[in-house]
Amino acid sequence: MPFELPKLPYAYNALEPHIDAKTMEIHHTKHHQAYVTNLNNAAMGTDAEKMNIEAICKNISKFSMATRNNGGGHYNHSLFWETIGPNGGGLPSNEIAKAIEIDLGGFEKFKTDFSNAALTRFGSGWAWLCVKADGKLCVCSSPNQDNPLMDISECKGTPILGLDVWEHAYYLHYQNKRADYINAFFSVINWQKVNELYLKAK
Ligand code: MN
Repeated sequence: MPFELPKLPYAYNALEPHIDAKTMEIHHTKHHQAYVTNLNNAAMGTDAEKMNIEAICKNISKFSMATRNNGGGHYNHSLFWETIGPNGGGLPSNEIAKAIEIDLGGFEKFKTDFSNAALTRFGSGWAWLCVKADGKLCVCSSPNQDNPLMDISECKGTPILGLDVWEHAYYLHYQNKRADYINAFFSVINWQKVNELYLKAK
C-alpha cells in the first residue's frame, strides 16, 4: 500500500484544552486513516499508485472523485497535524511574520480574514494560508477535501497552514460553536513549522 497514516508528532492530549484528546484520537485514527485506506483502494491500478500525494493533487483532474476526496483528505490532514502543536500559538516570527505584514496587512488582519474564511465556508471544508505562484501570501477556503494544490481549485497556491472546519474536527467539544474552535486553533498554530513551509514554498 503506497500511502500510510503518518504518526502524530505529539500525544493526543497534547493540545488540551484547545483541542481535546478524544477528538484528536478519533480524527487521526478513524477519519485520517479512512482517507488513507480509501486512497490506497482508489489509486490501485492507476498512475496515482506511483505518484506522491502532492503530484496527485496537482493533477487531480485526471483522477477519479474517490482519489480527489481521499487524496485531498490525506494531504490536508498530514499538513494539519504538522502545523499545530503543543508549543504553538502566539505570534508568528521570522520571514513568515514579515510576509504576513507586507502581503496580508499584518497579523490582526490576517487573523480576521483567516477566521472569516473558516467561518463562512458553508458545510465542510478547509481554510488556508497559501503561497501563490508569485510568492505572495493569500488566504482562502475550499469545499470538502479539496485544497489549493489541486488543478481544479478556485484558489491556487501552496498551502502552508490549513484549518479543518469539518464538524468531525470540533463537534465533540465545541458542538455548533465553530467560531470558538477557530479561535482555539490560533492557540496551537506551530509558527516555526509554518515559517519552514513558507521558505520551502517560496
Ligand atoms: Mn478532518
